[in-house]
Amino acid sequence: MNFKKLLVAALSCATISAYASQPRKVLIIGIDGTRSDALQQANTPNIDGLLVNGLYTFNAWHCGVTISGPSWSDIMCGVWEDKHGVLENSYSGSNYNEYPYFTTHAKSLKPNLYMVQVAEWAPLNDDVYNDSWDKKIQVPDGGGVLTADSAVANLANPNLDAMFVYFDAVDLAGHSTGFDPNNPTYISAIEGVDGHIGTILNALYARPNYAQEDWLVLVITDHGGSGTSHGLASAQERKIWWIANGPSVEHKELVGGDPGTYTQLYQLIYQVPEVNPAVLDTVPVQTDIAVTALHHLIYDTGTNPEDVAEWDLDGKSWLKTITGLDDKSSVKSDIAMYPNPASDLVTLWFDNKQNGKVNYAVYTAEGKLVNVPALITSQNKLTLNFEGNADGIYFVKLNIAGTEYTKRLVLNQAAPKGSATPDHDHTKCTGKH
Ligand SMILES: [Zn+2]
Repeated sequence: MNFKKLLVAALSCATISAYASQPRKVLIIGIDGTRSDALQQANTPNIDGLLVNGLYTFNAWHCGVTISGPSWSDIMCGVWEDKHGVLENSYSGSNYNEYPYFTTHAKSLKPNLYMVQVAEWAPLNDDVYNDSWDKKIQVPDGGGVLTADSAVANLANPNLDAMFVYFDAVDLAGHSTGFDPNNPTYISAIEGVDGHIGTILNALYARPNYAQEDWLVLVITDHGGSGTSHGLASAQERKIWWIANGPSVEHKELVGGDPGTYTQLYQLIYQVPEVNPAVLDTVPVQTDIAVTALHHLIYDTGTNPEDVAEWDLDGKSWLKTITGLDDKSSVKSDIAMYPNPASDLVTLWFDNKQNGKVNYAVYTAEGKLVNVPALITSQNKLTLNFEGNADGIYFVKLNIAGTEYTKRLVLNQAAPKGSATPDHDHTKCTGKH
């Protein structure tokens, strides 16, 4: 055991008692085939709500094969294709006995966990084994409302510990009309799923014991798309996004980045570089979903899944209590923005200890520069007045002492009014605005 692991063990001992009485639970929401640029463009108030208080990046990259079977196996097993063996949607070659879903690892330590999967895509129910779900619910492709209803029904069970809810309407829209942020059918499919996510989150927040529970919500896609397909290594197919929300994760936007690919075909044909471990260590990737979820579920046992040799996991945990974000060098800033969605005044707070020069520019989702005056500019704060601008998505680009940051803002006249003298102190941000 090296020093870092010793330190991790010591930290976990110190923090167990504080959390032992609050059951840790996990909700994973999967949206198949959702491009990062399209998600940013779509009007998704429910996903935005998770971002605003969560740990997220719109700049995550797939390190493996951009096909659903392999990708969801990466996400749920916490290992890449060379280990779980799934390379295509037939699931032939799967090696779940050696490299099972994270749920199986969780049950090996906590046999009484109660875990449910609700999935619209049949192979997730039929072709995966050794996944330890107590219940696997099959909903028709594009089920949407049925899927949300089934998730809501299961959330009413006080004993529920983990649930995976999977939507495929976005991928279906991409295959039939194009994976493209300028395709209204594709965008509207994303917005439809966002509505279902709202239904599910409302049921989660309405649990009678919600205040006494520590829920980690993870939202991810498996791959992007190009034209009407995916499976190759274009940026449109490989670039994705990654969201974690809950009291156990920091509230940060991660810069993200492309660690490269493990897939030799992509290295040869598309010149995507081999995975760079130094980059991989600093950015959230698909396999981190399983490991973060598992870490959360077994936290009270004092086990960090990254340290269990026989599990041989590739992913890493993003729980703040163990890993800390100081180790993750991709975190370039702690920029808070409030309110978001907003109707007029928006304030950004940032660290600018050197008192460097602060510049900003505001763009529409289509990339058009818009003139938004600043009411207040100080060393650590900028208040912008969006009054008179149309509802929609805007990007605020900040340049602080030569380093650039981008924040995504939803402007909506129905949103709360901002303040020019806000008392919101982001250093005390609790995730409950
Ligand atoms: Zn697909």
